[in-house]
Amino acid sequence: MKILVTGGTGYIGSHTVVELIEAGYEVEILDNLYNSQKSVLDTIEELTGVKPKFHEVDLRDAEALAGVFQDSNFDAVIHFAGLKAVGESVEKPLEYYENNVGSTINLLECMQEFGVHKIVFSSSATVYGEQDTPQYVETMTTGVTISSPYGWTKYFIERMLMDVAKSDPDFEVTILRYFNPVGAHPSGLLGENPNGKPNNLMPFVMKVATGEIPELSIFGNDYPTPDGTCLRDYIHVVDLAKGHLAALNHLQKGTQVYNLGSGKATSVLEIVKAFSEVSGRLLPHKIVARRAGDLPEFFADPSKAERDLDWKTELGIADAMRDTINYLQKSRGMEI
Ligand code: NAD
Ligand code: UDP
Repeated sequence: MKILVTGGTGYIGSHTVVELIEAGYEVEILDNLYNSQKSVLDTIEELTGVKPKFHEVDLRDAEALAGVFQDSNFDAVIHFAGLKAVGESVEKPLEYYENNVGSTINLLECMQEFGVHKIVFSSSATVYGEQDTPQYVETMTTGVTISSPYGWTKYFIERMLMDVAKSDPDFEVTILRYFNPVGAHPSGLLGENPNGKPNNLMPFVMKVATGEIPELSIFGNDYPTPDGTCLRDYIHVVDLAKGHLAALNHLQKGTQVYNLGSGKATSVLEIVKAFSEVSGRLLPHKIVARRAGDLPEFFADPSKAERDLDWKTELGIADAMRDTINYLQKSRGMEI
């Protein structure tokens, strides 16, 4: 089976490509390298023995995209490519709508034109917004309290995919709502390495560990949680990558939606503690004001994916911290 992976040199995409190749899939990667590096292709080759064909193409370029489909005979697409910085999306909403929604329209048009009908899409728990209970289930109403243009792009793409699958009975769509991806490949050769300023917690933790920034700012410790810091569902990126293989194996006509999370909630201070324990050094941190828009707590109900996809997380926070530190040491020159 031949898979086109958009955003395949990025953080989650690259880990998924490794799992796909190891499972015997033929993979081609499309990425514009806006937030990733071409050297990831060499790392994939080092890990798997296979260097996937690479298309340095921007999904917004419909003509170039058609060229990619013209030359290949894809069976399915896994669509990771997109911008993902929540704060930046508030400042530059049109860039986010153009890049994320516009790109996906181009992709779906190409898929229709070239008769490719299977797609797995990277959505996010952000589509749930604020709910009455913190454990999110796929049946909850989405799109009511989404707090950023980034979140809305995920919501609109989900709607678009559902509408396309309704209009064209050949389509097989699986929407995966990720919780908080963390960790790195156990080899230490692949991990999260965004270009520019990071946004999420772990990239900041990593920058503190490498000394690029002096201390982690924890956004608020007066939330109604056991230690006052926010609770999230952190999922190891290798577990997440394997979720995509499970999704590919269970594609069916119409649209399916699955949470990919661990079902466990961990606080920011617990992450700091776990990272410090594994590295053997207290991670410098300070408490600062709350960040606008943060919810005190949310985590996945992952039971649908476990039941229907035969998938569940196997790795925990300590594994994610160990693999992150291993990656920092092996690939980013960190000394402990
Ligand atoms: P990433 O930034 O590491 O990877 C995304 C890749 O897409 C990058 O390599 C980037 O260069 C590429 N890209 C962006 N716009 C493109 C375009 N127009 N044409 C071609 N390539 C383009 O991000 P990631 O963490 O691997 O996330 C992958 C997907 O998962 C994204 O859609 C993201 O919104 C979603 N997601 C991520 C998280 C998270 O916390 N990492 C959580 C939920 C959902
Ligand atoms: N966070 C923090 N300091 C940082 C980055 C994040 O305290 O430098 C907190 C943030 O307030 C949230 C948690 O870490 O409670 C996870 O944040 P992230 O942005 O990674 O994910 P999201 O909030 O989008 O789930």
